Amino acid sequence: MSTKFQKPATKYIHAGTLPDPSTGAIMTPIYQTSTYVQQAPGVNKGYEYARSQNPTRKALEDALAEIENGKFGLAFSSGVAATDAVIKLLNPGDEVIAANDMYGGTYRLFTKIFARFGIKFIYVDTTNPKNVQAAVTPNTKLIWIETPTNPLMNITDIHAVAKISREAKAILCVDNTFASPYLQNPLDLGADIVMHSSTKYLGGHSDVIQGALVMNDAALREQLYFIQKSCGAVPGPLDCFLVLRGIKTLHVRMKQHNENGYTIAHFLRNHPSVSKVYWCGFADHPNHDVAKLQMRGYGGMMSFTLKDDSVEAATKLLSSTKLFSLAESLGGVESLINHPASMTHASIPREERIKNGLTDGLIRLSVGIEDADDLVEDLKQAIG
Ligand SMILES: *Cc1c(COP(=O)(O)O)cnc(C)c1O
Repeated sequence: MSTKFQKPATKYIHAGTLPDPSTGAIMTPIYQTSTYVQQAPGVNKGYEYARSQNPTRKALEDALAEIENGKFGLAFSSGVAATDAVIKLLNPGDEVIAANDMYGGTYRLFTKIFARFGIKFIYVDTTNPKNVQAAVTPNTKLIWIETPTNPLMNITDIHAVAKISREAKAILCVDNTFASPYLQNPLDLGADIVMHSSTKYLGGHSDVIQGALVMNDAALREQLYFIQKSCGAVPGPLDCFLVLRGIKTLHVRMKQHNENGYTIAHFLRNHPSVSKVYWCGFADHPNHDVAKLQMRGYGGMMSFTLKDDSVEAATKLLSSTKLFSLAESLGGVESLINHPASMTHASIPREERIKNGLTDGLIRLSVGIEDADDLVEDLKQAIG
């Protein structure tokens, strides 16, 4: 474990890493091994088999804990594998209160996989904590929120929901993928577990699939570690190295995502063909006050609709950008454009989608860290 630093830039660069003890290598080596030689049965250096322990993964997990102000980090082979591990804490008959606007893959995992195992999911609009309170029953064991949400940028008050969760003796897990630890630290606000799709801002270069959980409670860490090694959704050492390297520049990238996000959000808002921009940095965003309190910036994620909110108009725009690449995913250095209704959120039934405000014409942007002027020019010519 490295010395703990408080200030962000130092923390992101040094978190979890010490020079390699055997050679002094400044970067944590990629320990590409499946097993470790033992001196005698049960006598080893703390490493027995790579599903259970790997030094590259250990360095990353220590870094994840540090950057989320937690005690323990666990890395998984994807974001959904991390979510999967949290749900496996539960038993048939247990209830989960979940946000009605969240990543489509999370919704799919809950409704199509875990509902079959007798776990009950209750979806509420968590932007009003009263709705969460009203859904609590003696069987509530987990509350799952995402803030800001994907793709509508809704904000939930983490501190308020943490209070409800504590009183209900439930676990609160926050999907912090959109904000990244640079903008928001849910554990500091009372959450029990922070989840990340490390694929996004933590990796930051669109070159790896990975997930993470961070927590403070040692017993919870033991349970989740047991699930991690028993179910086996562990990331390989090269992927751990890539995320560890990504974390080292998180603060530099996020500053630029914030700046570019601000520029693009305002450009879109002032464009005569745009009807609505969803970005939590606007003072008239419904929960801007909460965002302002619990976040340190508003990032590069946003969605918008054209005045012509049809699939045809959206499709035309999505096919016309030259710099924004049409692709799923987010959080990389390059800008991406996406059509949630047919891409990332296609697994949510249309009525559910529309009811929650995710229209057929909604367009989502992951604003990268290119020159903002070029990004504006690209959108200008594509909107026409
Ligand atoms: C991408 C994403 C996930 C899933 O993560 P994977 O790494 O793709 O498995 C979960 N939550 C949010 C908010 C995401 O954007």
